[in-house]
Order: sequence, then structure tokens, then C-alpha cells
Amino acid sequence: MKVIINEPKVVILSGAGISAESGISTFREENGLWDNHKIEEICMAGCLDYNRDATIDFYDGLRMGLKDKKPNRAHKRIAELKRIFGDDIAVLTQNIDDMFERAGCRDVVQLHGSLRSLRCENCQEKVDIGYEKQDVAIKQCRKCGGSMRPDIVFFGESAPMYEYLNEAVQTCEMIVVIGTSGKVIGVNTMAMFIENSILNNLAPSDAIDDKLFKKVLYKKATRAIDEIAEDIKKYLGK
Ligand code: NAD
Repeated sequence: MKVIINEPKVVILSGAGISAESGISTFREENGLWDNHKIEEICMAGCLDYNRDATIDFYDGLRMGLKDKKPNRAHKRIAELKRIFGDDIAVLTQNIDDMFERAGCRDVVQLHGSLRSLRCENCQEKVDIGYEKQDVAIKQCRKCGGSMRPDIVFFGESAPMYEYLNEAVQTCEMIVVIGTSGKVIGVNTMAMFIENSILNNLAPSDAIDDKLFKKVLYKKATRAIDEIAEDIKKYLGK
């Protein structure tokens, strides 16, 4: 994927909560995915070696479940802001769904990979398989014959796209955090050092010190997004 991150003024960092109103489960809340699955069995470095079939089944289920989901108002408003402001805004998400893409948002950085994509374990070649089951879509890498895996960053694996996040938060002037518990990517330091900051979640998280944020909105993302969009427009001077 070619990503364009060009010293953005505003960084929008989202997590599972922004897609909750599209009917996609979050991870850590009640009835979230981790209530029904064990992380170490299907989302840990090495799980493809010791638990391959169940791991692939798990991501097949999530991928197929995406097909009938639709982006919500929050994804759409962010896509619109990105259309208006271009490189002044960077959109980065921890989500592996394709809601931003389907909302027409361009240049989204998916920090933890994408459900729709498979990656060759040998040569890293990627293939978009839409909403298919992995073994139905493709058995081996078309380029080198290697075995394919979900293009997801498992816990304990390196996350190459973090480079874009690190770069963007060093130069931006405003950070907007939407729908993340802050347990995988910490956001406190961002709020501490970036001049303007907005936090939107449903409820406080024990991994986030909300006093560090200039504005805190504890409400659904679809309800908070208009106020967030107005603040961004005001900040960028339109
Ligand atoms: P999390 O489950 O840890 O936290 C979800 C957060 O969203 C909570 O703070 C909650 O208050 C908030 N929230 C819930 N509903 C909301 C709503 N309607 N509006 C606004 N906020 C809402 O999620 P996380 O921090 O993103 O966890 C990180 C990991 O979860 C990431 O690695 C990501 O890859 C993965 N994940 C992705 C998806 C997806 O692609 N949609 C789904 C589940 C998990």
C-alpha cells in the first residue's frame, strides 16, 4: 500500500468504537470479541504455527461478517473532512475492517492490517480477497507459491505502519482520538504534547487519563462527530 502522510496538521486516530455503530464488535467491552475468544489462541505471534485452522477460521468469520456492514455517519463525516482538507488531515485506524474505505475516505492508514487482505508468509505479496474465506479465495501465493496468512498484525508481531503514526504525531498540531480504549496504542503522551486534543469514547478507560485532553466527549461517535468536525474545520480555518 502506498501511503501519503505529509506533515498533517490534524491526526484522527480511531479504534474499534468508531465501527461499533456499524454492528462490528469491539474487543474489550462486554460481549466484545475477547469475551468469546482467547487472544493467545488466535491473535498471538506464532498462533499460525500452533493453532492454524482455528486462527484462519476466526479471521474468515470476521471477514465474511463485514460484507453486509455499512459505514456509519462518523466514517462518512471523516471521509468528507479528508476530501476537503487533503493532506492537512491524516486518518489512521487500528481497525481491520473496511468501513473508512467504503465511506470513500482516501489514504487511510490501517495500523494493524486489513481483514480483506491476505499476505504471503514468504514474499509478503498481498492480495485483496474481498469477503471470501481464505482457502476458497487462494491456496498459495501466486508469485512464489508460499503459504498465505491473514494480513493482520498479531500481538507480539511488528507493526510496520506505526512508523506513519509516530511521524504524524510528531508534527501535528491537533489529535482526535475516537473509539479506542488506549490499551494497545497509548494516547496519553500524544495528548500531553500535542497542542489541541479531543477524546471521544463511550466511557472512561483505565488506560486513558482524560484530564490530559482539551475536550472529552463521552458519547457515541455518530453523536460526537458533528462537534468534532466543526472543531477541525475551525482549527484549519474553514
Ligand atoms: P477496544 O475494544 O479496546 O475499545 C473500544 C473503545 O471504543 C472503548 O473505549 C469504548 O468506550 C469505545 N466505544 C465503544 N462504542 C463506541 C461508540 N459507539 N462511539 C465511540 N466510542 C465507542 O478497542 P481498541 O482500542 O480499538 O482495541 C484495539 C484493537 O482492537 C485494535 O488492535 C484493533 O485492531 C482491534 N479491533 C478492530 C475492530 C475493527 O476493525 N472494527 C474490531 C475489534 C477490535
